[in-house]
Amino acid sequence: MADVIQLLPDHVANQIAAGEVVQRPASVVKELLENAVDAKATSITLVIKDAGKTLVQVTDNGTGMSPTDARMSFERHATSKIKKAGDLFNLSTKGFRGEALASIAAIAHVQLKTKTGTASVGTQISIEGSTVSGQEAAVVPTGTTILVKNLFYNIPARRNFLKSSPVETRHIIDEFHRVALAHPNIAFTMVHNGSDVFRLPHSNIRQRIVNIFGSKTNEKLVPVTEETDVVTINGFIVKPAFVKKSRGQQFFFVNGRFIKSPYLHHAVSAAFQGLLKQGTIPGYFLFLKVDPASMDINIHPTKTEIKFDNEHTIYAMLRATVKHSLGQFSIAPVLDFTKDGQFETPYGYAKKQAVAPTVEVDRNFNPFAKGAPLKSSAAAGFKKGAAAGQGPLYLGLRDAAPAENGTQAVHFESVEMESEALTGSLFDDPELGRFGTIFQLQHKYIITPIKSGLMVIHQHLAHYRVLYEELLKNMTVQEAVSQQLLFPLQLHFSKPDMQLLYKIEEQLGHTGFQFGKKTEGALQLTGIPVSLPESMAGTVLENLVNDIKEEVPGTGFSQNDRLAKSLAKNMAIKTGTLLNVKAQEHLVHSLFACKEPSASPDNAPVLVTLGIADIDNKFM
Ligand code: ADP
Ligand code: MG
Repeated sequence: MADVIQLLPDHVANQIAAGEVVQRPASVVKELLENAVDAKATSITLVIKDAGKTLVQVTDNGTGMSPTDARMSFERHATSKIKKAGDLFNLSTKGFRGEALASIAAIAHVQLKTKTGTASVGTQISIEGSTVSGQEAAVVPTGTTILVKNLFYNIPARRNFLKSSPVETRHIIDEFHRVALAHPNIAFTMVHNGSDVFRLPHSNIRQRIVNIFGSKTNEKLVPVTEETDVVTINGFIVKPAFVKKSRGQQFFFVNGRFIKSPYLHHAVSAAFQGLLKQGTIPGYFLFLKVDPASMDINIHPTKTEIKFDNEHTIYAMLRATVKHSLGQFSIAPVLDFTKDGQFETPYGYAKKQAVAPTVEVDRNFNPFAKGAPLKSSAAAGFKKGAAAGQGPLYLGLRDAAPAENGTQAVHFESVEMESEALTGSLFDDPELGRFGTIFQLQHKYIITPIKSGLMVIHQHLAHYRVLYEELLKNMTVQEAVSQQLLFPLQLHFSKPDMQLLYKIEEQLGHTGFQFGKKTEGALQLTGIPVSLPESMAGTVLENLVNDIKEEVPGTGFSQNDRLAKSLAKNMAIKTGTLLNVKAQEHLVHSLFACKEPSASPDNAPVLVTLGIADIDNKFM
């Protein structure tokens, strides 16, 4: 028989190798972000479209590449990061295999633009399916931009295997979190389908965690530190009172690299023993430093698993350190185990008596009654009592301004306000449009002058309040308009989660969520609330499921209330979102059409005012 074995052509070999490195858009994100970090960038921007299926683009201000290196970077096993086998034992970079770019270029349309700091012009290369279709000089800033378009365009089977956009987006966000948490000293931005998802300034690790997971996270963190010859441990654990049933806040980083380690996870869990409810998973952000020579990260192609020489020692130290922190901050006995049963069936206690809410409400007042115009009814709440003078809003607000601990809601009871002229009396200059000047501060606050001084509105909380009242109204009084989807969304949930969603199908229907055919494998969505971008639908429902599962009994009024809260919170524009003037005005308008504009549904202050007197005082 003739010889039959042949060497595979390069492009075929690359495609096969690509399968190992690139499973989904998130893998591309990870490789490109890591390359940017390796290139010593101080600012990195990730732009994706359609959950990365159409576009993944990473721009960095790092070292850039020479024209020759730019071309070389797409060759397999081409790397600038190791030169000899020995270097493998002393890695300080994320990459070292030299496979990522070659693999990506084998299965997508790739464009690279890059320039080194010393060069006056840069270079631009286009590659499709491993074939270079063009290389030319280009005027580009120092650093590198890589665009990866139409992933798996030449492997339809792989493309079809991709999950729904929300699921793929979730994976991308996970990778983004991992890299961003590992490098708080680098500024990161993420943009999806044209809107900002994250805007993370250069910061310390605690701020980075808070910037990613929300300001509430700050109070939940307990610091962890330990230094020994074998390992240095730094970071934070989540207080036992706040642990979740879902995964999502378990992060180990070893020498700046995110890793998965069931073994180390066990060490942390062991430290938490006795403090956690069954089924909950401790949250942690732990940064370990070990001698690179004492570990091997080469055992997994995507490099998230590693092997330590001193595994047992590290386990023991980690457990002891976490335990020490838990003890030191005396946060042990915080759980009420009697609530266990209800924890499992959150909707069961809908029939139980609701705990009186902490917000004072006018019980005779029904904001959602048909025919009751919202604006004037909102003002009805304002009218009780009176404050004299020409700065009624300011006086009223100052009286009720949140205490230092920041949890008490602002009440408008003592504020006099004319209903019709609500906004007119609030905001100064009719000539300058409704609000006079309005602007956004740090993508977080909306600032606008009012008669008595300045008002600062928290954009996320404001929108949370607006959506909450809107959803609640839809659920109790009227049907929401649903945005019909041309192609039903297929969302993947675990079986119990799916059942949970089916259980509240009716209420969800009132908010605009419409389910299609019920199947075993996936949830079909045929309609979503109008105010919800399609790409967010999956995430919002996932968060809703988690919220329902984690609901602590006694925190809400009713089932509808909880549902509205969870949906509103997840749909509300985030801190970090850029709003144009129109959007800012619209938000402020909608806020003041609410029954309780001053407090979020969770009773946090939505706005504060700074009176002229306060400002004057600063100049004394
Ligand atoms: P690895 O990261 O394992 O070396 P890659 O295929 O990811 O392999 O990248 C190949 C090479 O291309 C890198 O070693 C690096 O020299 C260069 N490179 C890739 N991305 C960048 C970037 N963003 N900035 C500068 N150089 C880069
Ligand atoms: Mg790399």
